[in-house]
Amino acid sequence: MKDSLKIINLSKIYHDKNGETLAINNLNFNVKEKEIVAIVGPSGCGKSTLLGILAGLLPKSSGEILFNGRKKIGLMLQTDSLYPWLTILDNALIGLELSHEKNKKNIEKVLNLLKKYGLDEFAYKYPDSLSGGMRQRVALIRTLAMNPDILLLDEPYSALDYQTRLALSNDLYKIIKEEGKTAIMITHDIAEAISISNRVIVLTKRPSTIKNIYEIKLDNKSIPTENRKDSKFNYYYDLIWRDIDVNL
Ligand code: ADP
Ligand code: MG
Repeated sequence: MKDSLKIINLSKIYHDKNGETLAINNLNFNVKEKEIVAIVGPSGCGKSTLLGILAGLLPKSSGEILFNGRKKIGLMLQTDSLYPWLTILDNALIGLELSHEKNKKNIEKVLNLLKKYGLDEFAYKYPDSLSGGMRQRVALIRTLAMNPDILLLDEPYSALDYQTRLALSNDLYKIIKEEGKTAIMITHDIAEAISISNRVIVLTKRPSTIKNIYEIKLDNKSIPTENRKDSKFNYYYDLIWRDIDVNL
């Protein structure tokens, strides 16, 4: 597979009243087209900083980010940030509205996405009538509505309970595969990382740099909940757990 994106010698220094903080130090990795890459690392190591830079929301200090062609980026955050005064449909349409692309065709597309992912009967209801898991699904549809090539997910499920996270992990996996997206997902949950991704990148504590990269080769690669039962699952879990533990 071709590379979708290359990160070369990326560094980030924050400057504030306390001086300088080196958050990311000389990071190098690539992401292939249609690959799911999970990034794990200790709290505060620079994961959100990395996604912010990739999304174009934060300036880098040095290094390069090379996209293969013009890539549209979709970012999904930990909190669903749905507006309580807008219907589910209008919440899902916000991005399109802001980019002046809210037309009949796109509204139809979003309605179809809502239907496909079991939310059509809530289209004209408000977020408070939805469970946390459903709200996060709306947030994902809002991101997909913009038709991004690369999805950036910053701990998208960490605010949800375990059962919901498992279900959404399967949903997310299917959606990424069906829609043919490339995805970079940050998570602090090692099992979630292994179960959903093709590769897991382990970062060191701050300033983050690469500790290890694992290609996840399971006997029967399937949906995340099935992957968790794979005979090789614990092998990867132990390796990554040790990487992170040594870091702390
Ligand atoms: P993570 O997402 O891995 O928990 P972050 O990327 O949010 O970590 O933060 C990495 C480091 O950079 C932290 O030590 C944090 O305190 C620091 N940092 C984040 N944002 C800023 C900022 N705006 N100014 C100064 N330091 C920051
Ligand atoms: Mg973070």
